[in-house]
Amino acid sequence: MKATPPPEILQAPLVVEFPFTRSLGPVQSAFLTGLRERTVLGVRTETGEILVPPVEYDPATAAELRDLVEVGVTGTVTTWAWNPEPRRGQPLATPFAWVLVRLDGADTAVLHALDAPGPEAVRTGLRVRIRWAAERSGAITDIACFEPYDSDPVVEHRPHDGLFADSVTGIVAPARLDYTYSPGAAQTRYLRGLAERRTVGERCPSCTKVYVPPRGACPTCGIATTDRVEVGPAGTVTTFCIVNIKAKNADIDVPYVYAHIALDGAGLALHGRIGGIPYDQVRMGLRVEPVWSEDGRYPDHYRPTGEPDADYDTYKELL
Ligand SMILES: [Zn+2]
Repeated sequence: MKATPPPEILQAPLVVEFPFTRSLGPVQSAFLTGLRERTVLGVRTETGEILVPPVEYDPATAAELRDLVEVGVTGTVTTWAWNPEPRRGQPLATPFAWVLVRLDGADTAVLHALDAPGPEAVRTGLRVRIRWAAERSGAITDIACFEPYDSDPVVEHRPHDGLFADSVTGIVAPARLDYTYSPGAAQTRYLRGLAERRTVGERCPSCTKVYVPPRGACPTCGIATTDRVEVGPAGTVTTFCIVNIKAKNADIDVPYVYAHIALDGAGLALHGRIGGIPYDQVRMGLRVEPVWSEDGRYPDHYRPTGEPDADYDTYKELL
């Protein structure tokens, strides 16, 4: 669903993207290595059901499952949905059907893409077969897609030891979300304030708490925050952590300190990086002020003001 906010409300494209690395364990390792060798493996449960894709534990009894079987490369569509506008990274670049396919010999269905000329060519019960990728590495994408294939169903499956030369033991799955983000009215006001180097929170008319950044409503009282209040620019470190893991694409040397900072006048702390002081000298109560980004649109980090540390009683409710 696409909703276009009024023009005075900010919006911007946002991409969240990261590689997710995982080890496979014996069952998934056998399944994915099998795909590389054009062999589809399932696993047999205690009641004799054949699950494809295989899982390590019985979904009904939680019993460990290791009884691998080889199933067919042909199957039957059990349900489907047409995808008229494939997105980047999807199995096919042209319109296709998402299908659940119960492979011959299996009792459960696998989700994949079906290459078909149009939705009129797809139906539940359609017979299909795997189209293998030309280059296979031990991933679900080794199945390029399914394609219609007229054949009689067979129910044969054969025991398989799951052993292959040079087994795949881990995968890197790229995760990517790209969407248009709108922060809403309250945070639009907040971001426009930041562009003027002012930090503007909003006060709850009932409990008088000042929210920074504002979300437009007080979650405690359930009413709109309408009263705008400029806070800061200085504030107090209420708590902090030392970051020792360098984030990909972040040009910040480790270790560094990420802190909760209660700006003067704010009713809760916001997050910020602390600079201008050795990481091991940052402490609760440290007084800090923003150092603005080069384009002046947001605080890049906070640095010590040189004032004496704040008394604990002044920020203990803001931890
Ligand atoms: Zn309130």
